[in-house]
Amino acid sequence: MEVIGHLINGEMRADTARTQDVFNPSTGEVQKQVALASTATVEEAIAAAQAAFPAWRDTAPAKRARIMFRFKQLLEEHAEQINALVGAEHGKIAHDAGGELQRGIENVEYACYAPELLKGEHSKNTGPGIDSWSEFQPLGVVAGITPFNFPVMVPLWMYPSAIACGNTFVLKPSERDPSSTLLVAELAQQAGLPAGVLNVVNGDKEAVDTLLTDERVQAVSFVGSTPIAEYIYATASANGKRCQALGGAKNHAIVLPDADMDNAVNQLLGAAFGSSGERCMALSVAVAVGDAAADALVDKLSSAMQQLKAGPFSDSSNDFGPVITRAHQEKVLGHISSAEADGAHVVVDGRGISVAGYEGGFYVGATLLDNVTPQMASYQQEIFGPVLQVVRVESMQAAMDLIDAHEYGNGTCIFTRDGEAARYFSDNIKVGMVGINIPLPVPVSYHSFGGWKRSLFGDLSAYGPDSVRFYTRRKTITQRWPSAGVREGVQFAFPS
Ligand code: NAD
Repeated sequence: MEVIGHLINGEMRADTARTQDVFNPSTGEVQKQVALASTATVEEAIAAAQAAFPAWRDTAPAKRARIMFRFKQLLEEHAEQINALVGAEHGKIAHDAGGELQRGIENVEYACYAPELLKGEHSKNTGPGIDSWSEFQPLGVVAGITPFNFPVMVPLWMYPSAIACGNTFVLKPSERDPSSTLLVAELAQQAGLPAGVLNVVNGDKEAVDTLLTDERVQAVSFVGSTPIAEYIYATASANGKRCQALGGAKNHAIVLPDADMDNAVNQLLGAAFGSSGERCMALSVAVAVGDAAADALVDKLSSAMQQLKAGPFSDSSNDFGPVITRAHQEKVLGHISSAEADGAHVVVDGRGISVAGYEGGFYVGATLLDNVTPQMASYQQEIFGPVLQVVRVESMQAAMDLIDAHEYGNGTCIFTRDGEAARYFSDNIKVGMVGINIPLPVPVSYHSFGGWKRSLFGDLSAYGPDSVRFYTRRKTITQRWPSAGVREGVQFAFPS
């Protein structure tokens, strides 16, 4: 069986002492093994990145950008192959994998602006004959640790920008669906990155802990679940590293009584069930204001959901695929049952679905729960599956209080025709990314992506302008070249 290895110093490698199964979630079968890097292997990758750094730092930003242009072209040329690998290991349908790749490519496009983004700030004559400027220097070796749900896009949030800024990179992708991530990194290599600038080590906690503690690693970008994000942030910070750690989510959509209900229903269906709900921006809670709006919403959602089709990634007529593992399928099903036991009404039940010919796949059908309350575990925790929960409240303020009280603050949305209400909502809600009649307000690549509260640990968001700040260090230089023969006297007062 194929063993997926590592990309270290420009070469494919595998240490096969420890491996883990990689499943095809659509069939439930093991299709590959992934090598789990030892500490020694990760240290080799860090050493390769460290060795490549001085020359890469001194490479003209325009030359680095040219490699990013070639990388973008290679990604477009290999789209079908990349999407097929995502489908085979993650389970998402080709149209969804294509969207993921496109958003990833947009981050590579952003990295192509590097020469412009790295221009510093300059002030002439800050004192007599004195000039001053700030420049943005790369950090050195930077590490990225990424989740299973966007094996192509989330790594592309990180290393194109980091590398374009002059850093070298060690990426530790998710061990559950590593093949597409590795193929994309090989394309970056083919685009012209010198050996050691981008390294990929597959692995688990052992690899991650090596990256978090090795003193040669200057900064860590992480995306994944909140408990691990919190651990990464605490450990990396304690080891003196700059860190940004993006965590989990529970994204609420408020549906006001004046909303265009048919439009809201269509948007909610895609945002709740697309990618089987395995998106950190998935809308998993609909907060309906007033019983009339709630009844209409539940009625329209439940009838539209009869048409939804879950099935294997290889059939493009499916709306969404399986969830990632058997264990995750059981967790999602457990949440539905616990909500029911706690008093929620299971309006559409996705438990026990079977897909003909794919009986071993990790499927959960689209599920709608009504009369969910904030006390329920299914409301408090991230389900990360195709489950939409409806909470009924009496006012928009009550809906906003509910969202503000939740531990997560990644994304949110309001469906309304009332501009004043929408403006009040976006001004005051304690959430990092807000949509107004936009269900998945994922920022474009030239803005930055980040939640609030326990959805992001650190001060800077991912990609876009924040990534240039995260992957560089400001240095401010103050300069005077005294004229020949002019000598300064001694001055004990603070210079002003
Ligand atoms: P995860 O936290 O299980 O894993 C993420 C990464 O951390 C993987 O590379 C994994 O190998 C590593 N890891 C796991 N356990 C570890 C441990 N004990 N010590 C060290 N490293 C460990 O997340 P996942 O299940 O792969 O991804 C889904 C989660 O990611 C969801 O919670 C989702 O909301 C979140 N997510 C967040 C964003 C965001 O931008 N906020 C984006 C995508 C996904």
